[in-house]
Amino acid sequence: MRDFSGDHRWLSINTATLRVQWPLDRIIDECAQRGIRAISPWRDQVAAVGLHVVAQRLRDTGIELSGYCRGGMFPATTPEARQRALADNRRAVDEAKTLNAPCLVLVVGGLPGALDGTPAHKNIAAARSDVRDGIAATLAYARSVGVPLAIEPLHPMYAADRACVNTLEQALDLCDELDPERSGALGVAVDVYHVWWDPKLQAQIARAGRPRLLAFHVCDWLVPTRDLLTDRGMMGDGVIDVPQIRRWMEDAGFSGYSEVEIFSSENWWKRDGGEVLDVCIARHRSAV
Ligand code: ZN
Repeated sequence: MRDFSGDHRWLSINTATLRVQWPLDRIIDECAQRGIRAISPWRDQVAAVGLHVVAQRLRDTGIELSGYCRGGMFPATTPEARQRALADNRRAVDEAKTLNAPCLVLVVGGLPGALDGTPAHKNIAAARSDVRDGIAATLAYARSVGVPLAIEPLHPMYAADRACVNTLEQALDLCDELDPERSGALGVAVDVYHVWWDPKLQAQIARAGRPRLLAFHVCDWLVPTRDLLTDRGMMGDGVIDVPQIRRWMEDAGFSGYSEVEIFSSENWWKRDGGEVLDVCIARHRSAV
């Protein structure tokens, strides 16, 4: 396993970690000042600054992307809504291409309407079928553009409203069905927050292998967790054995960035952005 203790060349910052403190152009500059080589931005943060402004700032600073967040949200109840979702995913693929992202991360969606508080039905099997069809359609477009898609399985507590793909095994089954040749066009984003509890995790990471392992997200699981969405911990502050999972990733051939992704309304989003980045660097060296 790579030794991270002496430098932070394999640290990437998922820019949601600083979304409250700074706009994306400032995040890029602050990362550059600290020798952080990669980020993974969110679409709304890019849109707020401007796609081409962001692309230019990345070129100017030499910062690259470890991923682009996010596409997905496929399930719908009408043909029109399905088409809108696919069109939005094509735009996300195009943005990822403009930013030279190595993958577009997919948070696939759950029961249609649930994220807004009004689920249209209780048929999670139908939602999963929509997800399969949505990924298949988006994959055809993404292949033509040259942007790999990374399915991110989410913790089952988000099955209703954010993602009905909840284990790495389930995500890899989709990969095997839609990309049986293991072309590199479809893979997974392994986020320790979502998968650390899974008794099959080690075996499924090994099954994925290098062609499927497109991104690695790190943070920590706090005990107690006070909010289902915005109470993620800094690496080292919770109960996830992050180095163990990184070891499994690297044993399977992964050699990319460790991307810090922390949504934290009661702690890290309240702190000075520079302090947060400095702690990310320190914990990347000591707890990843
Ligand atoms: Zn993630």
